[in-house]
Amino acid sequence: MADYVIRATAAEGQIRAFAATTRDLTEAARAAHNTSPVATAALGRLLTAGVMMGYDMKGEDDLLTLKIQGDGPIGGLTVTADAHGNVKGYAFNPSVMLPPNEKGKLDVGGALGVGVLSVIKDIGLKEPYVGQTILVTGEIAEDLTYYYATSEQTPSSVALGVLMNKDNTVRQAGGFILQLMPGASEAVISGLEAKLKEIRSVTTLLDVGNTPETILQYILGEFGLEINDKKPARFFCNCTKSRVEKALISVGKKEIQEMIDDGKPIEVNCHFCGRNYSFDVEELKEILEKAR
Ligand SMILES: [Zn+2]
Repeated sequence: MADYVIRATAAEGQIRAFAATTRDLTEAARAAHNTSPVATAALGRLLTAGVMMGYDMKGEDDLLTLKIQGDGPIGGLTVTADAHGNVKGYAFNPSVMLPPNEKGKLDVGGALGVGVLSVIKDIGLKEPYVGQTILVTGEIAEDLTYYYATSEQTPSSVALGVLMNKDNTVRQAGGFILQLMPGASEAVISGLEAKLKEIRSVTTLLDVGNTPETILQYILGEFGLEINDKKPARFFCNCTKSRVEKALISVGKKEIQEMIDDGKPIEVNCHFCGRNYSFDVEELKEILEKAR
């Protein structure tokens, strides 16, 4: 099943919902960054959230950045998504290894530790919108649920999951976001709460053959689910050599001159996709010219 995200409503608009299957893009991120299992789980969860939250943006050129900074051994995560299903991201320390948590699961909360979640929406205004909340558990889904409740005043249920194969490649990844709109009736609220208690993990549902559509049908079918839209999703970085060159120019003339004096080609690594760009001394001299 190729990656995609869907958008839906239920209960005559009292509930809105997103669901995504994201195995391929999580595996692409794992391969790009050579992440350890716990880093794959952490990054895959945040990428999955990014795909769904990016899809929720209104403008063609809007950009969403999700940033987590914590005092745990992974240090943090950064994910950027657009409104077209493109997402990219990285873990600050991708090789972190931790023993499983008390439930026997990959310890994403322990890897992130105590920290802050930032949601940055660049919607073409002078200043981007920035919402920040503390990490509640560091498991990411709960942290986003808390973010929606406190920063956007929207009661939500966020589920995110990454399931690994024995060889540490990604077996399943996906998630959903359910939100109650203002004026949702008591009956809808209590009915949804009861339904959510029955849900097993989203990766378990995917692993037995469910799709984003059947998962939402399972949760929201009795509320009159209407699937409104569907979009493919992928791990994609828009870096190019000329963009990296622009970044080098901004480093400053003195630094570029030092690189030239070293007499060796330099390698510049894109954080988001792990791609390496090399510049030889002749190219560095041309860059120095442009920096003048
Ligand atoms: Zn890149």
